[in-house]
Amino acid sequence: AARAGLRADGDGALMTRPLLSLTGVAKSYGEAAAVEDLDLDLEPGSFSALLGPSGCGKSTTLQMIAGLVVPDAGRIELDGTDLAAVPTEHRPISLVFQKPLLFPHLSVAQNIGFGLRMRGTARPEIDDRVADMMQRVQLHGLGARRPQQLSGGQEQRVALARALVLDPILLLLDEPFSQLDAALRSEMRTLVRDLHDSTGVTTMFVTHDQAEAVEIADRVVLMLAGAVEADDSPERLYQRPPTLATARFLGTGNELRGCVCGSEDGAGTGRVFTIAGTAHIEVTPGTSTGPSVLVIRPEALALAPIGPRDVSVTIVAVRFAGSHLVVTGRTEDDQDLEVHVPVGTRVDAGERVGVRFPPDRCTIFGRTPA
Ligand code: ADP
Ligand code: MG
Repeated sequence: AARAGLRADGDGALMTRPLLSLTGVAKSYGEAAAVEDLDLDLEPGSFSALLGPSGCGKSTTLQMIAGLVVPDAGRIELDGTDLAAVPTEHRPISLVFQKPLLFPHLSVAQNIGFGLRMRGTARPEIDDRVADMMQRVQLHGLGARRPQQLSGGQEQRVALARALVLDPILLLLDEPFSQLDAALRSEMRTLVRDLHDSTGVTTMFVTHDQAEAVEIADRVVLMLAGAVEADDSPERLYQRPPTLATARFLGTGNELRGCVCGSEDGAGTGRVFTIAGTAHIEVTPGTSTGPSVLVIRPEALALAPIGPRDVSVTIVAVRFAGSHLVVTGRTEDDQDLEVHVPVGTRVDAGERVGVRFPPDRCTIFGRTPA
């Protein structure tokens, strides 16, 4: 049988067809666009995070995929089928919401088996599948309880079990753990990741929390104001944010205004980033010259004795942060930057030191002259 998700391209080679594909999808409420011209592909079996600030259109996107909201424009395909004419209940998609939305008058087992019962699945099969799901989400022994006898974490386990017992080909999770405390959230993330890895169900996890997105997903789709701003692996988004807005949302750290120009002696790459005309940070060849912003994470920087071409700063604060010290330095043109240094480093406010910028950790963005 043809495996879902595979197709031959023009030359007959097998390529992976996206399991889910959104093209030019848009939705407005009145005058206000919630989602604008959204393109998004999910590979079969992938685990992606849809990340973005509150109000950027994440839930609207999920609701359109699930068929709860009708797009104004664009096309949504699931496994090669246009979903426009497929009603919600016939889409092999399960959704888990922030609130578990369990039936209060049904037991845990009945809540989990509810969808199968609606489908007319035979009783013994329902019992088997519910028992199996309860094991997988670590609810064994709690089948007879009512939802009000469960903790918040257990309720979300029921919601997960109820979603997965239907064998969806796509699992959508809309900020499912944002009401749980931090320790429980982390435990639930591990559970969702394990469930994905054991079932292989294509999963999209919606969150506004960048730390959660990069921890759970293999791929992060960053949405800002209704459109995709960036789409890459968590590592690459952190190390090489494609836009300044991406860097800012991920909290990539230091942002320094300066200028890219040719280095006087033409050594190295021939292009340097200068701050207040003094420092000379080598940048990749081909970087456009002119007013620019350099973005670099505090853990990528190091303190060093001041060399003639280094960035020199005056230390204005040193703060203990558990695993490291956060040193705040001020450049000659009054820009602050943070450097993480090992605990025990001898460094004091008022000192002048050099800061080393590893060229491969710097990302440069052009900026319009002030
Ligand atoms: P997110 O899930 O990223 O927080 P939403 O998709 O819920 O964002 O909302 C995107 C935008 O659309 C917001 O400005 C929100 O106020 C608006 N919106 C969402 N749902 C509705 C609705 N049913 N009626 C009117 N406006 C809505
Ligand atoms: Mg939402």
